[in-house]
Amino acid sequence: MSIKLEHVSYVYMPGTPYEKEALKDVSLEIDKGEFVAVIGHTGSGKSTLVQNLNGLLHPLKGTASLDGTDLSGKTQEAKQARGRIGMVFQYPEHQLFAETVYEDVAFGPRNLGLDNDEMDARVKEAMKFVGLDFETYAHRSPFSLSGGQMRRVAIAGVVAMNPDYLILDEPSAGLDPGSRRAVFAEIMALYKKRGIAIIMVTHSMEDAAKYAKRLLVINKGQIILDGRPGEIFLKEKNRLLEVGMDVPEVYKLADALRAKGLRLPHEITDAKL
Ligand code: ADP
Repeated sequence: MSIKLEHVSYVYMPGTPYEKEALKDVSLEIDKGEFVAVIGHTGSGKSTLVQNLNGLLHPLKGTASLDGTDLSGKTQEAKQARGRIGMVFQYPEHQLFAETVYEDVAFGPRNLGLDNDEMDARVKEAMKFVGLDFETYAHRSPFSLSGGQMRRVAIAGVVAMNPDYLILDEPSAGLDPGSRRAVFAEIMALYKKRGIAIIMVTHSMEDAAKYAKRLLVINKGQIILDGRPGEIFLKEKNRLLEVGMDVPEVYKLADALRAKGLRLPHEITDAKL
C-alpha cells in the first residue's frame, strides 16, 4: 500500500502575473508504515506537497495516487481513497466548531454512514486514544478546554475516521513543552500501535530527527534530500545550511549525532541532546 506522486508539478494562479510554480516535477512514494518528516524553508512548498499527497490539491502535471487510484478523480473509489488519508492542519483547534467535544469528534465519521452505536464506539475509542476521558469531556464545549486539550480533540476527530495515512502540519506549533510531548506520544502511538503512516511537516529539525524514520528536505518546490534523518543531518550538513535551514539547530544535531556515532534518529532523546 502506498501513496505515489509521479512527476507532479503544481502551479498557483496559472496564467496570471502572480503565477507561482510551487512543486516542480516531484516523484515520491510513501508506503504504509512509514514515518516521514518534511522540512524546508518557509515557502519551499511543504504545504503544497502534503495537500497533493492527500488529494486536496490536484497536480497540474503528473499524478498523485493511492494504490493506483488517482487521488484527483471524481469517482467513488477516488473519494474513498482520499478518505484513507487524514489531515490535521496547523492549529487544528481553530477549526473546532461544534457545541460539544462529542459532536466535533463525530463530524468526520458522520459522513461514513455509521449507525449511532458504531458512531458512539468510534468517538469513545478516539477520545480514549488521545487521552481525553469520555465521561469528563464528551459533553463539554471544546472551547472550555486548554490549548493542548483542544488539539487532542482535533486529532481525535481524524483518528475517528480510521485513516491509513495521517498528515500533520506542524503538530506541535504553539504548544508548551508538556503538551508537545503529549501530542507526540499520541502520534507515536498511532504510528506504532495502529500502524498508521505518519507524514509530518515540521519546522523543528530536532523533532524530525527524534521521531521520523525518513526525512524529506524541500527546497524551491523540489525534494533535494530524501533519507534517514540522522544520515542527512550528519552527511548533508552543508547542503542543509546552503538551503537556509536553521544553522545552530543543524550544528547541534550534527554534533550530537557525531558524538554518539551514527545512531538511529528515534533513539535520540531530549535529554541526550
Ligand atoms: P511552505 O509550506 O513550505 O511554506 P507553500 O507550499 O505554502 O510552502 O508555498 C510554496 C510557494 O507557493 C510559495 O512561494 C508560496 O508563496 C506560494 N503559494 C502558496 N499558497 C499560495 C496561494 N494560495 N496562492 C499563490 N501562491 C501560493
